[in-house]
Amino acid sequence: MLDGIIIGGGVIGGMIARELTAYGARVAIAEKANDVAMGATRANSAIVHAGFDAKEGTLKARFNVRGSQMMESVCAALGVKYKRNGSLVVGFSEEDRATLAELKARGEKNGVKELVLLDREQILKLEPNIGDGVTCALRAGTGAIVCPYELCVAAIGNAMDNGAELYLNFEVSAIERTDKGYLVHAADGRTLKGGFVVNCAGVYSDRIAAMIGDTSFTVIPRRGEYMLLDKAAGGIITHTVFRCPSKMGKGILVSPTVDGNLLLGPTAENIEDKTDVRTTPEGLARVRLQAGEQVKNIDFSKGITSFAGLRSVGSTGDFIIGVAAPRFIHAAGIESPGLSSAPAIAEYVRELLIKEGVALAKRADFDPHRAPMHAFAYMTSEEKNAVIEKDPAYAHVICRCETVSEGEILAALRQNPKPHDVDGVKRRTRSGMGRCQGGFCTPYITELIAKELGVDETEVTKFGGNSRMNIGYTKK
Ligand SMILES: Cc1cc2nc3c(=O)[nH]c(=O)nc-3n(C[C@H](O)[C@H](O)[C@H](O)COP(=O)(O)OP(=O)(O)OC[C@H]3O[C@@H](n4cnc5c(N)ncnc54)[C@H](O)[C@@H]3O)c2cc1C
Repeated sequence: MLDGIIIGGGVIGGMIARELTAYGARVAIAEKANDVAMGATRANSAIVHAGFDAKEGTLKARFNVRGSQMMESVCAALGVKYKRNGSLVVGFSEEDRATLAELKARGEKNGVKELVLLDREQILKLEPNIGDGVTCALRAGTGAIVCPYELCVAAIGNAMDNGAELYLNFEVSAIERTDKGYLVHAADGRTLKGGFVVNCAGVYSDRIAAMIGDTSFTVIPRRGEYMLLDKAAGGIITHTVFRCPSKMGKGILVSPTVDGNLLLGPTAENIEDKTDVRTTPEGLARVRLQAGEQVKNIDFSKGITSFAGLRSVGSTGDFIIGVAAPRFIHAAGIESPGLSSAPAIAEYVRELLIKEGVALAKRADFDPHRAPMHAFAYMTSEEKNAVIEKDPAYAHVICRCETVSEGEILAALRQNPKPHDVDGVKRRTRSGMGRCQGGFCTPYITELIAKELGVDETEVTKFGGNSRMNIGYTKK
């Protein structure tokens, strides 16, 4: 019997698994997809928010500020890319100027440091490409960017290296309470037994709650569409540039990514289907229009892909974190700033479990460290030569756009949590994330996955299920 079961392998489940493993719990993560980081965690703005946006006194404000303070050291331990680039919320009118002053006051109440109001001249010194109509801004020096799926993969990998278990393709379909804890059943007939359960199922966390009879909240999906531009377009700004929130909503952002691309988006549209991650011509047109107002000289011809993510919007207006039944904890409806808050939410869930009587104490032998996953491209020639000397597979560059070698792909395939499909390898190594979007490297990667898993190439999928890369042979 496990000490506990964490439902959902996103960044919240991942950080909780790592935290509880560090405190001696034997936990398993039950994830319905073919890999971890397959929900909101793989498609978001990747911003570590400073914490001025959430209303004072909310869980969002509390965990955002604490999470943002923790994030740099968490990323350093896990070998995850993180950059404190600062953020600018830009305004276009006197009304916006007043809103920015309110945001600053709110941020200060939340405990956010390094908040400064700027006028156009001051903004131009920081960002020469700021839009012509921008007149004022709020700068947050503690705003940062991170790679969200890398953080999730690394947190789960680190938890597994320290003893946690991961069950993929485990779609939780029913939960039973017993005198010792809970039986968590999967749709395919498997069952996990655990003393406690943590519900981190993102947009489905209301359905998990309903499995124990808790219908006190609902979670609706709010879709956000993005455009991602090539690194060649990435250098035109250094800050994350948000739009001043208005009656029309929060607006979109223009941000560099930790890998040097330029990210534009997201839109915000409440939808019904919890699986609908389509992008639309209208959504992307909106992104383009607003981005161009906030930042000029964006080279839209350098677009390499578009994607959408689903925010988990809970009916309470705040994160839903608390004890739902004995030793059953919700970490539900974690919309933005959930990524920023993840390490702080994990700490809080550990505290809740201790109050529930779960014996947790810091392990002396827990190793919080993990080697970076995508490091070869950033090495000096001497460092690359030294790596190749030890393992010649690093001399064989498979993804030319992102300089990813066969050595890195094989290492990713052998490291916790092991990927089983092409997108899983992509999230760990960046192979296929460059301007050709996998046009050249995908056949080689498919071949490497097949060899490593000992399956035929026709068995290899893009993201599990029936998403096969090859449907058969033209010649054998
Ligand atoms: C458009 C957008 C922009 C955002 N921007 C930011 C930002 O810039 N900064 C920030 O801090 N936050 C941001 N967020 C929020 C952040 O992405 C989320 O708060 C965070 O990723 C939530 O993580 P999670 O683990 O709760 O959910 P998810 O990542 O969705 O993980 C939930 C997991 O549960 C699994 N699951 C569901 N049902 C079951 C089941 N029955 N059995 C087993 N597994 C199941 C899913 O497959 C999924 O992997 C944004 C979100 C979106 C969508």
